[in-house]
Amino acid sequence: MFDFLMTDDQKKLRDEAREFTRWVPKEMILAMDREEIQFPHEYLQEAGRRNLLGIRLPKEYGGRGLGWVDDIIVAEEVGVASYSLACLWGVGADIVCEAILEFGSEELKQAVVVPLLKGETFAAECLTEPRGGSDFFGAATKARKDGSDWIITGQKRFIVGAEGADWFLVYAVTDPSAPPHKRITAFMVPRIEGVETHYIYGLMGVRGGGAGRLVMNEVRVPERYALNGVNGGFDVFVRMMIPERLGTASMTIGSVRPALEIATRYTSRRKAFGMPIMNFQGVGFKVADCVMQLDAARSLCYTTARAVDSGTVHDNRVRRMVSESKKFVTEVAWDVANKCMQVVGGIGYTNVYPLERIVRDIRLSMIWVGTNEIMQLIIQNEWYKEYGKVLSKEQVRDVELDAENADKSEEKVYE
Ligand SMILES: Cc1cc2nc3c(=O)[nH]c(=O)nc-3n(C[C@H](O)[C@H](O)[C@H](O)COP(=O)(O)OP(=O)(O)OC[C@H]3O[C@@H](n4cnc5c(N)ncnc54)[C@H](O)[C@@H]3O)c2cc1C
Repeated sequence: MFDFLMTDDQKKLRDEAREFTRWVPKEMILAMDREEIQFPHEYLQEAGRRNLLGIRLPKEYGGRGLGWVDDIIVAEEVGVASYSLACLWGVGADIVCEAILEFGSEELKQAVVVPLLKGETFAAECLTEPRGGSDFFGAATKARKDGSDWIITGQKRFIVGAEGADWFLVYAVTDPSAPPHKRITAFMVPRIEGVETHYIYGLMGVRGGGAGRLVMNEVRVPERYALNGVNGGFDVFVRMMIPERLGTASMTIGSVRPALEIATRYTSRRKAFGMPIMNFQGVGFKVADCVMQLDAARSLCYTTARAVDSGTVHDNRVRRMVSESKKFVTEVAWDVANKCMQVVGGIGYTNVYPLERIVRDIRLSMIWVGTNEIMQLIIQNEWYKEYGKVLSKEQVRDVELDAENADKSEEKVYE
């Protein structure tokens, strides 16, 4: 984040997050990438010990009661060490805990949020199924009522942290005959009888974070574990778009930042044709574009965080802005990571530098927490709604009328 926009407290917070990121043992990052570690308990324990999990959440549950601007400052720094670690840092505390605090009972807050923010337990968010992740309403996981309990059967896949999770936030169909937005319930499912996880994917990047398949076979949970009540899952899903997307955007900036730093150092030292390669426009201009792209990405994240923190921006516009942040930042990050690898040349493609890992890791950002095509769908929907309802009615100059032949209404054919 831009230091000139930070308060003194935010600068201290950033420095705390940087210190945490410097703490991360190199061997942990490499062992995760080699999948010798499949779930880094030690990392979450350390984050909890430093009170760096769920910093937006209320102090009474172990958070720091801060805002979204603070959160994106920390997320950027957390992203620097490794994308896989940052995913784990965000999923349990920022996403699942927020869902519980917003929609869950006091019992769940005490059972899940309090120990999770201390780094003692972990919770995974489980939407995606083998049959698809984009089509939320098409969920095939089902729950049937049995007395005051619900019995859940189904599968979820690509679940970050599944391997180490003690709790799972699971979306299941509870009323198949209801309209789509009233048929799904968000349950908190503990790791109990009937729950299995399988660490089965040969991931391109973001390894070692426990991403796996969750299989639920007749899992019995009490109705009070439903967030926002039975058939209230859609509201939980919509609300989680903010932490999923704004969190992903800001940590992605952090994860790609080292690529730019490596490229900057390398191109100022490496010589070709008798001079540092930064002097060739083909190299220096790429670095310049990366700097500009990351600054633009930060600006969008910051504006979006301010919009959410203000509490005065309409939900539809917030949804558009978090989706814009996610799409824009992740596409910028992919482009930046590739440009940085390009200017470092052949050695950038080896594991002498971590650029190849950054490229592999960053690719996920355009796919998870909703693909970028789904972001486009949301941006499109929210923009047309907002334009029709609000923007078209604002007292701004109607420039359409400033054309020479603007009055030729017979030429303005729409059907
Ligand atoms: C490493 C990793 C970690 C993940 N972590 C989690 C997690 O913790 N929890 C979780 O629930 N999920 C997780 N996911 C799943 C991820 O969110 C999904 O993969 C993603 O949402 C896409 O779902 P899908 O793979 O089923 O693709 P599909 O939904 O089948 O989509 C395939 C393609 O079709 C496009 N498409 C689909 N519908 C439309 C449409 N209406 N308009 C335009 N294009 C469309 C998509 O954009 C995509 O390009 C993770 C995935 C990976 C790889």
